[in-house]
Amino acid sequence: MKNLFHSFLSLFFPDLCVVCSERLVEGEEHLCANCLHLLPLTNFHLQPENRLEEFFAGRIPFRHAAAFAYFVKGGSIQHIVHELKYKHNPFIGNFIGTLCGENLRGSSFLADIDLLVPVPLHPKREKERGYNQSLEICKGISAVTNIPIDTETLIRKVNNISQTKHTRFARWENVENIFLLTNSASFQGKHILLVDDVITTGSTLESCAKEIFKAAGTKVSIYAVGAAG
Ligand SMILES: [Zn+2]
Repeated sequence: MKNLFHSFLSLFFPDLCVVCSERLVEGEEHLCANCLHLLPLTNFHLQPENRLEEFFAGRIPFRHAAAFAYFVKGGSIQHIVHELKYKHNPFIGNFIGTLCGENLRGSSFLADIDLLVPVPLHPKREKERGYNQSLEICKGISAVTNIPIDTETLIRKVNNISQTKHTRFARWENVENIFLLTNSASFQGKHILLVDDVITTGSTLESCAKEIFKAAGTKVSIYAVGAAG
């Protein structure tokens, strides 16, 4: 009945590919088969000392760094991330997370990962959006890999001071010390995979990792759906 109703609705509101806006056919979800096939995968997880690892070298001792696909302005990953962050569509996060999980499955990149940790969102932002997009990605990865997700241990502190009143420099500085480890015991000795939507400057991931390293014996790897090409 639900399917019949969906078929009826799609006569008037057909599901469109988020990348090329072509009408999706049965069996396609969010992306058409063509756009899915053309996703610019990085395969960084198969390349030790890949460009992303080089980018972070010397900044923070990440174990490994990888991204699912290249983020190009106007490209497919930008469309997908835009849909995920600004179109109230958490489902596409889960969907793309599943693709990430399938891509990573069986690789040494995931071999000793104990926990998936999404980059925490500012509580106010999360309330506005209704979800944390990085958590939605984690759910997809976890569904494929069975690696548990932890959202309790690393949190983002609420900033009471209005960000808009700060100068650009002060706002940049604000990324420092905005994350907090609520219970370091649950991270102790663990290899954490920190997950974000897109890696740009990396300063948020850097700030998260600094906090995670306060728990004894932790290792941190980072992963995102998109990274600059
Ligand atoms: Zn398409």
